[in-house]
Amino acid sequence: MREENNLVIASVYDNQVRIRAAETTALVEEARKAHDCWPTACAALGRTLTATGILASDLKDPEARVVSTINGHGPLGTIVAQSDGAGNVRGFVGNPEVYLFNEKTGKLDVGRAVGTDGTLTVSKDLGLKEPFTGMVPLVSGEIAEDFCYYLAVSEQVRSAVALGVLVSPDSSVRAAGGMIMQLMPDAGEDAVARLEAVTREMQPISSFFERGLSAQETIRELFPEAKILEQRSLRWYCGCSKEHFADALALIKTEELDAMIAEDHGVEVRCQYCGKTYTFSEDELKAIREKHIHAADRQSVSAE
Ligand SMILES: [Zn+2]
Repeated sequence: MREENNLVIASVYDNQVRIRAAETTALVEEARKAHDCWPTACAALGRTLTATGILASDLKDPEARVVSTINGHGPLGTIVAQSDGAGNVRGFVGNPEVYLFNEKTGKLDVGRAVGTDGTLTVSKDLGLKEPFTGMVPLVSGEIAEDFCYYLAVSEQVRSAVALGVLVSPDSSVRAAGGMIMQLMPDAGEDAVARLEAVTREMQPISSFFERGLSAQETIRELFPEAKILEQRSLRWYCGCSKEHFADALALIKTEELDAMIAEDHGVEVRCQYCGKTYTFSEDELKAIREKHIHAADRQSVSAE
């Protein structure tokens, strides 16, 4: 499994098409383990994490972020994926215990698990005052089509999007990855026709990674004349910490903290992004409460 340079940006057909491909097997397997995902939940979350990581490869600032939120009112509930400009990807699915199989296609039924009665929202926080946010209705809940539609409607980008997660019988991730093939604004009919011919014949994207190809080798196989422009890496990384949650606890009402101290003698908080839990003892909560009161005092002093 590769994590170094697992995202590759290339151009083909005289720069009329830009390709971004990512091999995310290790990343999606980490996500599956963190959330104990059943196969269909794993596929849906993995596709969303991969697409979001690829979209974030546009970001120049490593601290800037892309957040994708999908809610189709299906059994999975809400899927959230976040990636920063440095390639740190994290996310979660509302209900990870979903295993729906489509007997007709012989594949995991991601579309039914996600549902189609809802939206895909993509928010890009570029460090400006307001994040750029685009929202589209879901097309199929299969996620690749939904991101393709989002790009067309919200960013005026014509593209082909392939996303895939192959789950082993033991539920681990066998191969995962994605590719966004984007027509540049000046693309001519010839480039459009050539791209269509490639995507029509293309095998599922996860099959390339199952064969052991890297993102770059996958691009080369589909587009032998591709010019490689940039290599980046994507990885599963949450970045949460006990300090972060202590800050969050300091923001809740003093009465609620008092209840945690008096009734529960401590509290366990769980990071929804990575599933990690942090325990705060009675004494630690009391220390947070102290800071709380001092902060409230300072506020009232400065208000006078
Ligand atoms: Zn976390």
